[in-house]
Amino acid sequence: LSAVEQNVLDEIEDKGIDFLRLQFTDILGTVKNVSVPATQAEKAFTEGIYFDGSSIDGFVRIQESDMRLKPDPETFAVLPWRTREGQEGGAARLICDVIDTSTGEPFEGDPRGVLKSALERASDMGFEVNAAPEPEFFLFEHDEEGRATTKTNDAGGYFDLAPKDLASDVRRDIIYGLEDMGFEIEASHHEVAEGQHEINFEYDDALTTADNVGTFRTVVRAIAAQHDLHATFMPKPIPRINGSGMHTHISLFTEDGENAFHDDDDEFNLSEEAKQFTAGILEHAPAIAAVTNPTVNSYKRLVPGYEAPVYVAWSDRNRSALIRKPAARVPAASRIEARFPDPSCNPYLAFAALIHAGLDGIEKELDCDDPVRENIYEFDEAKREEYGIETLPSNLGEAIAELEEDELVKEALGDHVAEKFIEAKKTEYDEYRIDVSQWELDQYLETF
Ligand code: GLN
Ligand code: MG
Ligand code: MG
Ligand code: MG
Repeated sequence: LSAVEQNVLDEIEDKGIDFLRLQFTDILGTVKNVSVPATQAEKAFTEGIYFDGSSIDGFVRIQESDMRLKPDPETFAVLPWRTREGQEGGAARLICDVIDTSTGEPFEGDPRGVLKSALERASDMGFEVNAAPEPEFFLFEHDEEGRATTKTNDAGGYFDLAPKDLASDVRRDIIYGLEDMGFEIEASHHEVAEGQHEINFEYDDALTTADNVGTFRTVVRAIAAQHDLHATFMPKPIPRINGSGMHTHISLFTEDGENAFHDDDDEFNLSEEAKQFTAGILEHAPAIAAVTNPTVNSYKRLVPGYEAPVYVAWSDRNRSALIRKPAARVPAASRIEARFPDPSCNPYLAFAALIHAGLDGIEKELDCDDPVRENIYEFDEAKREEYGIETLPSNLGEAIAELEEDELVKEALGDHVAEKFIEAKKTEYDEYRIDVSQWELDQYLETF
């Protein structure tokens, strides 16, 4: 066993952990887990734990189904809502890589492996990737039968304080839960919409951050449930008010710890690499959207007027742009903020797509246009054409069509994931397309 693995065994012993949840993520971004007695920990590290991959959506067919989970000891964390000091039955989790037993190699359908490949490409180019997401979510009440509603439990707005912000107790408990799991919380606040919240955590390397997004969603839902509330990361649960985004901040660092995105002499404090990276994302944005905004509902958020981007442009100020350059206090904090991702995405795949597109921009030395400082929501078509500003896909069907045409983003996902992802999303969109909505009934049932 490595030193880190041995440490995990010691902690299991010290903290009275009886169960280990071995976690991985399926192609659609759902965290899966298999629970093993903590006595299996050593075996899990040395031999791995076998499971049936054919039961996981988008993994493999039944005849090639043996998969092995290889726990990453760096991801060990006690589950605070399952563990009480001095009581039995404590639980901890380990995030795993998925190994294909027929080759002994990383399974190409494992989203975590897809992100690792993107990070390897960055590393070959001399970069480490840092990322920080800003996941937003709503807190809703349950009905008498315990089902989630869209009734918000407060009517607060942006940065409101208690007593209007009734959820601040819930948010506090969520933050305690996250801190117990090793998160460093930067800030939390009530978001613009009623019932909407945001909790920001410290940036980290992109792999850790993607792991953290999965953990974050789990903790937020679990703690909200303890308060009899339903937390949802659905991008647009309520029409005509703000939806929930997952703005993603990205920067590249060189191996000696310099921020490769910072340039003191540049008007925006952005280096050539940062601009080329931005240009790469802008160039592939319509196809990336299929990954960063992967649900039918995602495209109800990407409409003008709700602080979510619609048009493919960058800005050093304007929040209607797809990519923004946030003000940075210190050189190390120079970064770009991709504003289109939403929290229904698979974070591993979303980061992989963004990173590959950005690195491609650097490799091809793509030119970045000037930032757009006006409110792009107010541009008409002629003005957008004059500025050369494209529009994001307006629905999931269009986004998938863009993805099918974009070799770079498909390569970022790898053949296996690209194929399964496109297949699953086409089905999802078709089901939606043939459904008849309440809106249609309200409009037409009595009119015709
Ligand atoms: N909720 C907005 C979005 O959908 C963002 C609002 C904000 O963070 N100021 O992206
Ligand atoms: Mg924010
Ligand atoms: Mg926000
Ligand atoms: Mg933001």
